[in-house]
Amino acid sequence: MKVAIIGAGPAGAHLAYELRVRGAEVDLYDAREAWEKPCGGGVTSKALADFPFLTTPDVARKLVRSVRLISAARRELTVPPRSDFAIFPRRELGQFLRVRAVTAGVRMRVDRVEKTARESGKWIIESASGLRNEVDLLVGADGASSVIRRRVGIRFGPEDFSYGLGWHLYRADNGKSAELSGQVDIRYLEKLGGYLWLFPRVDHHSYGIACGYREASPQEMKERLLAHIDSQDPLAARMIRAQAPGSHFYAAMIPSLGVTKWDRLRASRPLEGWALVGDAAGSVDPLTGEGIYYALLSAGLLARSIAGCFDHYEVIS
Ligand SMILES: Cc1cc2nc3c(=O)[nH]c(=O)nc-3n(C[C@H](O)[C@H](O)[C@H](O)COP(=O)(O)OP(=O)(O)OC[C@H]3O[C@@H](n4cnc5c(N)ncnc54)[C@H](O)[C@@H]3O)c2cc1C
Repeated sequence: MKVAIIGAGPAGAHLAYELRVRGAEVDLYDAREAWEKPCGGGVTSKALADFPFLTTPDVARKLVRSVRLISAARRELTVPPRSDFAIFPRRELGQFLRVRAVTAGVRMRVDRVEKTARESGKWIIESASGLRNEVDLLVGADGASSVIRRRVGIRFGPEDFSYGLGWHLYRADNGKSAELSGQVDIRYLEKLGGYLWLFPRVDHHSYGIACGYREASPQEMKERLLAHIDSQDPLAARMIRAQAPGSHFYAAMIPSLGVTKWDRLRASRPLEGWALVGDAAGSVDPLTGEGIYYALLSAGLLARSIAGCFDHYEVIS
């Protein structure tokens, strides 16, 4: 079976690997080289336990030593994680997952997919380079704002998203910082359904805040996050306000589906030869915004279910 996977984030790259090792012919498309996708990069203990390849020494990650939880009423609790919990740089994680897929025999195409059409039981994929590809199965792994999702007729509305923003901050005194020594801050927000976080990464800090889409303006979210950073590390807050060279702003949507949406969602239609995984399928914990684990999980589940019917698939396609 020939498969085209659109998007080589954790969902697409892992699916590509899993399908290839089960014998499928896989083209994995991404519009860009591995990149620092807007994300905290937090990979929970259950993700590290269920996907042991994430413990590879090839990606430098920061192990979390303690988690400080701060309630909206400012009560605090600091706990060590029961088992490993790590903060990953997304570019390096993405690169690792792509190399793993390519080494297994996946064809990686750094090429934006622009057109998809269903013709005579096949999908025709056209990309920015002018390449035309004909496949049996089209998989949308193209993230929260998935175009493939819309093309196959699945609609997410504003109520189906959270919105997150923050800064990565690189600074000269990184090594001395308390946060970089392995402490995570998670603070719940007064009158907003979300939280803010301060994450240590290997060579910088990652600060972020997320809540329901349009529940607060980006300006209000920035101010709330900066007020917390200021209370912990005034120099960091000053650097961000001054847009110092080491400070990089990011913002992005996070799928956050309610129960009704989940009940009605169909993330695949074998007879139409398409499926969605990861953010494209809304596979994110709506309370925590954790998506890397569910990207990998949804990819693994899809690979297993497709592999179970390769032969049957050839007959119906
Ligand atoms: C602010 C923020 C903080 C977050 N923090 C965390 C966290 O700490 N921990 C956690 O687990 N999750 C977190 N998430 C969620 C996590 O980032 C996502 O759930 C995860 O990246 C989903 O992986 P994916 O492979 O489905 O999609 P993505 O990682 O978004 O990958 C999609 C890929 O598709 C490519 N693409 C899109 N369109 C096309 C096209 N037409 N042609 C070719 N390629 C295309 C893109 O370039 C991209 O590489 C956070 C999200 C946000 C926004």
